[in-house]
Amino acid sequence: MLFTRRLMLVFVLLLASLAITTALAAQESEPPHWTYEGEEGPDHWGELDAAYEMCALGLEQSPIDLTDAEAFDLVGVQTNYQPSALTIFNNGHTVQVNYDAGSTLVVNGVTYELAQFHFHTPSEHMIDGVAFPMEVHFVHRSADGDLAVIGVMLVEGEADNEAFAPVFAALPSEAGDPSTIAGVTIDASAMLPAEQLFYTYRGSLTTPPCYEGVRWIVMTTPVELSAAQIEAFHALFELNARPVQLINERDLLVDSVPGN
Ligand SMILES: [Zn+2]
Repeated sequence: MLFTRRLMLVFVLLLASLAITTALAAQESEPPHWTYEGEEGPDHWGELDAAYEMCALGLEQSPIDLTDAEAFDLVGVQTNYQPSALTIFNNGHTVQVNYDAGSTLVVNGVTYELAQFHFHTPSEHMIDGVAFPMEVHFVHRSADGDLAVIGVMLVEGEADNEAFAPVFAALPSEAGDPSTIAGVTIDASAMLPAEQLFYTYRGSLTTPPCYEGVRWIVMTTPVELSAAQIEAFHALFELNARPVQLINERDLLVDSVPGN
């Protein structure tokens, strides 16, 4: 009997040490938790982990207030988006839609492929000091791994936005892995504003690790969602926007000629 008890104790201790080892391993491999408010909020991202130091030290961070832009005739920004299956998930910070391969953005002769889009509320960028109810980010990656992001402001209009309707109808309330909704097709080309004038500047990811070298293209014209669509997102996320950062020495350009 005593022997059995001792054996049990050894077994329990073994299990406990295994659990601790597993917990430590998880801590080492997973990036630290971060939030949009409080102790792990944007003001502290740079202190949470060495890998996040650009969030505090970077001089070319995003978002920014899009103001005092220099007017330019910007040629060579072209989207060629194809329809995609709806593959959607809640990553704990936002709702993200992973886009099927084959949709491209060409900027200054460099081709980027649309990888995913996701949402922020309120908008992360401001235009002349004004924030909008939401902002959608279309994230593109080049063959070399460079990123270009198209930002579109989302405002409240009268009717449901049909292009976004399948997405807002499928918002996952719990964080989890991507899942593809059977029989649903989306088309990112219908999600962009008809008038495609835009601001452009060099910036960063707006979430840790805040990597720089991101080409930002933010449309000057917002797109409308219904109040119900905005509310559906607010039911999951009340605030998931990084505050605006200093522009520092960067150029901010605005396309002044429609139709290019
Ligand atoms: Zn974003």
